[in-house]
Amino acid sequence: MRVVWVVVAFLGAGVLGLLLVLPRTRALRPRRVLACDLCQRRHRRLLFAMVVLALVSVAGFGLRVSQKARELPACAADTSIAEGRRVIDPRAQGRQPVWSTIRSAMTAPVSGLALGYAEARGRGLCSVGNPPITLAFVPQAGEHMGSMVGEVFLASPVPRINPVRAHDLAVHESRHVDQWAVCTIVGGIGLLPVLYVIDDTLYPASENHFEKAAGLDAGAYPPPPNPPKGPQGWAIALWVGVLLLVARRRIRWAVRTLVRRHRDLAPGRCAVHTTGWT
Ligand SMILES: [Zn+2]
Ligand SMILES: [Zn+2]
Repeated sequence: MRVVWVVVAFLGAGVLGLLLVLPRTRALRPRRVLACDLCQRRHRRLLFAMVVLALVSVAGFGLRVSQKARELPACAADTSIAEGRRVIDPRAQGRQPVWSTIRSAMTAPVSGLALGYAEARGRGLCSVGNPPITLAFVPQAGEHMGSMVGEVFLASPVPRINPVRAHDLAVHESRHVDQWAVCTIVGGIGLLPVLYVIDDTLYPASENHFEKAAGLDAGAYPPPPNPPKGPQGWAIALWVGVLLLVARRRIRWAVRTLVRRHRDLAPGRCAVHTTGWT
């Protein structure tokens, strides 16, 4: 049983999932949890969420595998930003380096989900390079060149750019794939989008740390403004508010513990879930 939960937790939320779920699946769960109705309900909800996330990951993985199994048409060279990667990536000729393989495996679920979306809403897929990158053309990319979701580049229809730009952009997007892989290992398929959104509200556009790490020039971002805009005050207020909301019960518990030494627990509740500030 334990092994099943290890798999579910890692598929659902990576290493973070293991840290969250494993202590709760032991026969010897903390006494607090066994004694508290609300804690038990929360744990059941957490496990349920992990199962849902794990199933989504498996579904994405399946979509990725089935896509890899069939032959996609080759992308026309000058419509492809990934073409640049084939040119610059000598590792791609023949043998695959270890990281490339790990990266493909770890981003497979989210790549599959992107492919599923592109097949439902998009204008077709094509494949380029060795190892192949999948380009998915979606209508609503707008003036933005596109976004890397796992190893799938969701592109505006027929982005025509010169080979130098293609080369730079391919390097930039390849670093986003690295970011997807690392985040998926740490916290599952949902971590990168969450971190990216939080970072982008605090540090918008050219100040975004994910874009900086991928290379602003290569990604066609303008240099960051001087003086910098980030961190933006409203975003700090927002995320501190969210944090306070999430941690409100623990804050209440901490305040009460500081004010009074002894505490009476409500029946069927742990200290964290006992209401009242004093
Ligand atoms: Zn509790
Ligand atoms: Zn980028």
